[in-house]
Amino acid sequence: MAAPSPPDLCPAACLTAVRLIEIAPATWSVLIPMMSMDKPTILVTGGAGYIGSHAVLALEAAGYPVVILDSLEYGHPELVKQHLKAELIVGSTRDRALLDDLLSRHNIGAVMHFAAYIAVGESVSAPAEYYHNNVVGTLTLLEAMLAADIKRFVFSSTCAIYGPPKTLPIPEDHPKNPISPYAASKLMVEQMLQDFDQAYGLKSVAFRYFNAAGADPEGRLGEDHQPETHLIPLVLMAALGRRDNIAIFGTDYPTPDGTCIRDYIHVSDLASAHVRGIDYLLAGGDSAFINLGNGNGFSVREVIETARQVTGRPIAVVERDRRPGDPPSLVGSGDRARDLLNWHPQYPDLESIIAHAWQWHLMRHGPQN
Ligand code: UDP
Repeated sequence: MAAPSPPDLCPAACLTAVRLIEIAPATWSVLIPMMSMDKPTILVTGGAGYIGSHAVLALEAAGYPVVILDSLEYGHPELVKQHLKAELIVGSTRDRALLDDLLSRHNIGAVMHFAAYIAVGESVSAPAEYYHNNVVGTLTLLEAMLAADIKRFVFSSTCAIYGPPKTLPIPEDHPKNPISPYAASKLMVEQMLQDFDQAYGLKSVAFRYFNAAGADPEGRLGEDHQPETHLIPLVLMAALGRRDNIAIFGTDYPTPDGTCIRDYIHVSDLASAHVRGIDYLLAGGDSAFINLGNGNGFSVREVIETARQVTGRPIAVVERDRRPGDPPSLVGSGDRARDLLNWHPQYPDLESIIAHAWQWHLMRHGPQN
């Protein structure tokens, strides 16, 4: 009788698979979990959110088992259920008992920490909530990790810690001048990470994101913030007819077309950098602060024009005053991400970023207009 086919296996396991064919099928169920023991389980906080869910997708594609901790204040559990294998645990990073229980039940090798409040304007009017969630929550998580002897940590930081840039593109050693409680909360965690490395040997990579945008190229995940404040989703909502127009905040900046320039980075490229960050730490890499951007800047008008071309829809514009706190240009230097992680964005062009976001918006919100 012909031997039955072995179950689906990832390419890395092919050699083992060849040997498995010669082993009785009953033994597969014992051996296959052992093969995935090569890669430790990663705890991803905020894994039901925009960037976190894309990171989970990338981790799972790379063969890492994942457990998600998410408060679901903003996350999307239905997307986790549909597209991710990870177990979703609902709760807060400030809940030490929950963390201790979770870390004792799962064999976690490293933590990726996305869970945080992210609205800059709101952080100005409600700083206590931001410091509580973003700083106290991270401290509680780090303490629980140390108690469980887990010493590898990847952190979502932000280019907002630099404040108004003094040089462009911005290198990682640029002075830090956060001008909002949100940015200050992220810088405080970066300080904690330096101190925890020195005192406890906790190794971390803090990624300073520029403007995360786009969506999974296969359309499984995307950006869905409530309320939405970011330029690209708002422009696409105007293209869909869910808004009358897009406001341009300031047309008199010292830039070629008078509108602000930002470094838009595809969310799947961010996700792949996070997997490299985990690989790097698990291979014994030292702590690092790393910019994640495109190295390319695009103006607000360029974003709107590209969205008109990609969607083929009219997008009405109204010109408004500057939004307080917006620097004219923010573009990051990508040298360190390249040198340390050999990371290169796969989708550096604005057309791909907007096309993938558009595909997601069409599926999520329907082809109105
Ligand atoms: N922006 C705009 N209209 C909007 C939203 C944003 O003109 O409705 C501009 C904003 O002033 C900034 C750029 O688009 O110059 C990117 O803003 P976003 O909020 O997406 O990201 P930020 O750079 O503030 O993190």
